[in-house]
Amino acid sequence: MRTLIRNARIFDGSGTPPFDGAVLIEGDRIAQVLDNAAPLASAADRVIDAYGMTLMPGMVDAHTHLTWGSSVENIYPQFLLPPDELKKAAWRNARVLLDHGFTSLYSAGALGDRIEPELAAAIVRGETPGPRLVPSTLERSPEGEDSVDTGDVFNGRGPEAIRAFVDHCAGEGIRSIKLILSGEDALKPGTAQDILYTDEEMEAVGAAAKAAGIWIACHTYTTRAIRMALGAGARILYHCSFADEAGVEALVEAKDRVFYAPGPGVSVAALEANPPPHVDMSAMKASAADRMALEAKLVPALRARGVRILIGGDYGFPFNPHGRNARDLEHFVTHFGFTPAEALRAATQYGGELMDLAVGLVRPGYLADLLLVDGDPTEDVRILQDRERLKMIMKNGVLHKALAEAETV
Ligand SMILES: [Zn+2]
Repeated sequence: MRTLIRNARIFDGSGTPPFDGAVLIEGDRIAQVLDNAAPLASAADRVIDAYGMTLMPGMVDAHTHLTWGSSVENIYPQFLLPPDELKKAAWRNARVLLDHGFTSLYSAGALGDRIEPELAAAIVRGETPGPRLVPSTLERSPEGEDSVDTGDVFNGRGPEAIRAFVDHCAGEGIRSIKLILSGEDALKPGTAQDILYTDEEMEAVGAAAKAAGIWIACHTYTTRAIRMALGAGARILYHCSFADEAGVEALVEAKDRVFYAPGPGVSVAALEANPPPHVDMSAMKASAADRMALEAKLVPALRARGVRILIGGDYGFPFNPHGRNARDLEHFVTHFGFTPAEALRAATQYGGELMDLAVGLVRPGYLADLLLVDGDPTEDVRILQDRERLKMIMKNGVLHKALAEAETV
């Protein structure tokens, strides 16, 4: 099957200005990108006219919790769900994300052990619609006074316990483990400066994950946490809000091997939330205000130094449901000083690099994960929040959402 998309404005994911052109897709890949479609027209089985629309790579969310139940389609008042409902919610959330233009997800942890590898495999087999998924398991927080309650399965202490965790994950098909390395003020006020693992444990997890070919994602707030995560070879660091100058230097020094996702989505949504009287969000709101103030300085500093900064903001709470993930691009522009093109690059090219797949760019040889957007997101990234303006969603060369007026020849 060869599909030609012509008369498009093309934003290729790299951050360079959009240009007018055409893309030929063969099977699951982009075969050609040209500024003039004429030579390609006779080569296509299907022609899509994209006049007035922008063609761009599918988006990548770098900090996803599919088992956090709430989406724009279904709000759960409670956070923890019974197993059957948890699976239903995760399956639905994967489809909701794809419906909203996200073709790849990097999991930041789950509320159940085997649910994400099972879902990732079902998506690959075409049994349920969803983005490409790097699956994870329960977020790991070791036992102790400051520990964050993330499930009681894997939280023993010492290098042996953490090696056993990595072995278990390797056996279950998990591709990234999530370590709660810093405490969490939003859940336990005053703990964000705490370090929950020992150097010995971090050394053990780094070696074991490397040997098993599993990536590490870390919940980190302080410079000490950043250094420990980098020492263990972590692939992606979240938050980093309390990083000082030395923390910035450590991230800059590791910028070719590490990604950073601040996660403004949950903070902004917490500040906006108007919970019912029986729900106390005061700790969450205070923590969100602190973090946004710090990150407003930190994130631009890291961007200026070339650190790859990605979108993804802990969606899945009732006040921050899945499906609103593209709000992160607006937050990058409003709070972190990104241009729209830079925010789009954070959601596409850098996301593809995080996935370690040929996605996130409109280039020959790349997988055909593509969106057609009504309008120009390089002028205003907010249009990506309106799923009605996502006129076509393609993953792997297959249309998840077809243009109504698609013309077939
Ligand atoms: Zn998270």
